[in-house]
Amino acid sequence: MRKWLALVVLALAALPAFAQQAAAPPAPANPFFEEWTTPFGVPPFGQIKEAHYLPAFKEGIARERQEIDAIANAPQAPTFANTLEALDQAGEFLDRVQIVFYGQLSAETNDTLQGIAKEVAPMLSALNDDINLNEALFARVKGVWEKRDALGLTQEQKKLVEEQYKDFVRGGANLDPKGKERLRAINKELSLIGLRFGDNVLKETNAFRLVIEKEEDLTGLPLGVVSAAADAAKGAKLEGKWVFGLQAPSIWPFLQYADNRELRRQILTAYVTRGDHGDASDNKTILSKVAALRAEKAQLLGYKTWADFVLDRNMAKVPAKVYGLLDQLWTPALGVAHKEAADIQAAIKAGGQEFKLEPWDWRYYSEKVKKARYDFDEETLRPYFKLDNVRDGGFYVANKLYGITFTERTDIPKYHPEVRTFEVKDADGSHLGVFMTDFHPRPGKRGGAWSGRYRNQYFKDGKDVRPIVVNVCNFFRPTGDTPALLSLEEVETLFHEFGHGLHSLFSRVHYKGVSRVPRDFVELPSQIMESWVLEPEVLKVYAKHWKTGEVIPGELVAKVDRARRYGQGFASVEYLAASYLDMDWHTLSQPREENATAFENASMAKIHMMPEIIVRYRSPYFSHIFGPGGGYSAGYYSYIWAEVLVADAFQAFKEKGIFDQATAKSFRTNILERPGTEDAMTVYVRFRGHEPSVEPLLAKRGLEEAPIPKAN
Ligand SMILES: [Zn+2]
Repeated sequence: MRKWLALVVLALAALPAFAQQAAAPPAPANPFFEEWTTPFGVPPFGQIKEAHYLPAFKEGIARERQEIDAIANAPQAPTFANTLEALDQAGEFLDRVQIVFYGQLSAETNDTLQGIAKEVAPMLSALNDDINLNEALFARVKGVWEKRDALGLTQEQKKLVEEQYKDFVRGGANLDPKGKERLRAINKELSLIGLRFGDNVLKETNAFRLVIEKEEDLTGLPLGVVSAAADAAKGAKLEGKWVFGLQAPSIWPFLQYADNRELRRQILTAYVTRGDHGDASDNKTILSKVAALRAEKAQLLGYKTWADFVLDRNMAKVPAKVYGLLDQLWTPALGVAHKEAADIQAAIKAGGQEFKLEPWDWRYYSEKVKKARYDFDEETLRPYFKLDNVRDGGFYVANKLYGITFTERTDIPKYHPEVRTFEVKDADGSHLGVFMTDFHPRPGKRGGAWSGRYRNQYFKDGKDVRPIVVNVCNFFRPTGDTPALLSLEEVETLFHEFGHGLHSLFSRVHYKGVSRVPRDFVELPSQIMESWVLEPEVLKVYAKHWKTGEVIPGELVAKVDRARRYGQGFASVEYLAASYLDMDWHTLSQPREENATAFENASMAKIHMMPEIIVRYRSPYFSHIFGPGGGYSAGYYSYIWAEVLVADAFQAFKEKGIFDQATAKSFRTNILERPGTEDAMTVYVRFRGHEPSVEPLLAKRGLEEAPIPKAN
């Protein structure tokens, strides 16, 4: 049936071109309607034009509707194969469009793509609702679900039945007609206002520019930072000046190093007031609306709050468990942060100044205290962290652990000249997947770093189709003769995203429906990769001075190790406060729009947040939880949850050797290869032998000396 459809569609698509043939050359066909003959079937980025997306989306939605109808109205009695498996395979055409489109929307966007995103959001949300609320379909799924234990299914198949059934229930299948109608309206509105929230953050981030005209305002800043700012000025046609912005590689070094206190105040104030100016880009009303709609949706579906709805599918399961972990960490973290504040205040005084420590002073003086105390300046590391070498360091670790190899290929399509493409092979030489890197900032790229995919691993007609993975970051680009050099934090970011990449590359599941990983588990594969960054055996391979080739000196690494614990109070408080804020927004038991400012203030007051530290994300730019998709709503805690898992899991490698093959094999099979096919805690315990405990993390963060409230 699908083949027949494709033929009709191709014939239709060819018509207009044929009619025009006499006058103009035929319009290039829409690549989404064709098979891709590129190496490994990588999307033919060069041929995909903006105009191709919308027709492809419409076609994909139409096809998926037909596929779903065929399953729902099949005359045969429902079976695993004709219902659950068929449902899992539906939507292949749309999947291919979506994965390319949303990849580009994040990494290489423009107004046109953003317009398309807005146009398709309600269409996709309606399709989703039409599937979830299709009564005939749900009856068939439920029929199979009820008999699931008697069908002789594999573990993976049984999990698929359970997950799909749950998808329907969570999608409103059990609601009465009035409830279903209301749910549709909520979903549609959420999909639209989430996009608006994200657009506003991007707009507000790009709108601010700190233009420096006098050289003396640059004192304290490292040379690399200054020349990047000069390049940015050139790009903005402000030759001879220096431009700083709110993107990570610009604002954080500025706050860390710029001597000019007033300019530090200006740039931080611009950063923390994004989406909070009471103008057209203000996000406060939007986010209150999002929280209220989520609360209403959760209650419609029988959950007390949105957090209960979300956590039901996570390792944590219930809000109390999340608050329990946060509370366990908060008190020691706040204690250490207060000590750090006292140190900083003393440093200000020692410098002959009288002012009270403010948020724009923290990073600057913390750096000075750290330098004085540990004789350590982070910038001395940068020359040892040449981007290409660091990337190869990641490849080295993956090779030592799992035997896989990365070979650069120049014949694979890319969507930007700065993208690099690699073929990944398994230890036995078989093809494992394609890995792409896209490392430098561009105006069309959103901030931060992430790992994405241009094809998920899946099985088609019994054949294992391997994934196409991309790591997208915003690292310093090369300036003049100097190659791209990373800070230690950026090195960790690279390893982190590479860990997500490996997770995708290793995937070997038979059904799309079981490839979903709980939000509070998904950061384990990424964060654990950071554990290898400072291992001497690994440093030897990648941390070589870009000019002299000298390996990073051992005593410098020892200093890093000591110095890193400094500042953990700040980092923990800044992060944990954001986790509380997220949980507070999503444990609203009344679907009522709150005053965003008052709500945030109350949330921070409740935990006795210190005024010298600003929560890592204030509500109006907390894209993780309010942005498109809102993937981290009631889930921002998952980073620290994962850190608990990571500290505990890396102990296993520490005990047996950081490249111990048996441990690596167990980690690959249990944690990386079969995401979502079993309960996450079950597979973790199978790898580790016991449930994780919080102590290794407290030790790692240097928080173990402060009093720890008893665990519940
Ligand atoms: Zn991550």
